[in-house]
Amino acid sequence: MIQLPHIEPVFRPPSEARSLILQVTNGCSWNQCTFCEMYTQEQKRFHLKKQSQIEQELKAVSGTGMPVRRIFLADGDAMTLSFRRLKQIMDAIQHYLPDVQRVSSYCLPRNLKHKTVAELSELGALGLNLFYVGCESGDDLVLEKVKKGETFDSSLAALQKIKSSGSRSSVMILNGMGGKLYSEQHAVNSARLMNRAQPEYLSTLVVSFPAGTERYQSGFKGEFEPLDQAGLFREMRCLLDSLELKNTIFRSDHASNYLVLKGTLNRDKSRLLQTVQAALEQPGAVSLRPEWMRGL
Ligand code: SF4
Repeated sequence: MIQLPHIEPVFRPPSEARSLILQVTNGCSWNQCTFCEMYTQEQKRFHLKKQSQIEQELKAVSGTGMPVRRIFLADGDAMTLSFRRLKQIMDAIQHYLPDVQRVSSYCLPRNLKHKTVAELSELGALGLNLFYVGCESGDDLVLEKVKKGETFDSSLAALQKIKSSGSRSSVMILNGMGGKLYSEQHAVNSARLMNRAQPEYLSTLVVSFPAGTERYQSGFKGEFEPLDQAGLFREMRCLLDSLELKNTIFRSDHASNYLVLKGTLNRDKSRLLQTVQAALEQPGAVSLRPEWMRGL
């Protein structure tokens, strides 16, 4: 694995474990979501990396002679870069690393507001064709309480733009995000968003607070009551039950999940629902990830 100089910490989706991580921006330009501590350290203050430095790094990787097939553009919202900058980066990738087949990035819905479908198609033709979109929820009230700065409509517009351009999206939804009070509307509206958007990939993670819940509670005015394990399973059942997807690869296997679920929706919907139901009715009969093994 080729290591480039990074400003740590660097995060990437689990499916990019074997990709070259090319840090084209540092931190996250939004950095306000109350559940996210990823880029709160001083050195992660948001900035763009100069094109000349990116090209130097690509040249150095090219010089190693090691074939690179996949690249992940870090950090939190590299798609905040303008179309012009992204095209420069993709041109440089093609020039220095012609074996690259897939380039991906995290993408906030608002990152696409000023990019056209034609521009996304052009980037897609250069290899940038997979976007990890942390929708977190399809419920406007929950999104407002966690300061995501997005809505059902803004998320849907971005996902539809990605699809129209011929690229793929991988959506993350956060299980437990609305706590007890908003669990059902969070699940139902998240499913409604997915049903409209029909993403190629969907994964769920469990919301967690390694640094404490104080920041999170501020948005909920102290009324956030975390779901217990059974509550998380009930919410998952409601989400799965409400999903009407044509061909979406579904994964709930991040280390934060108690229950690992994998399948293609809707094809495997009844099997996945049965697993969740079994976890609710006879927790001993289903293999659950013990608390100490959950990576939060
Ligand atoms: S947009 Fe993403 S990276 Fe930025 S603060 Fe929110 S969750 Fe964290």
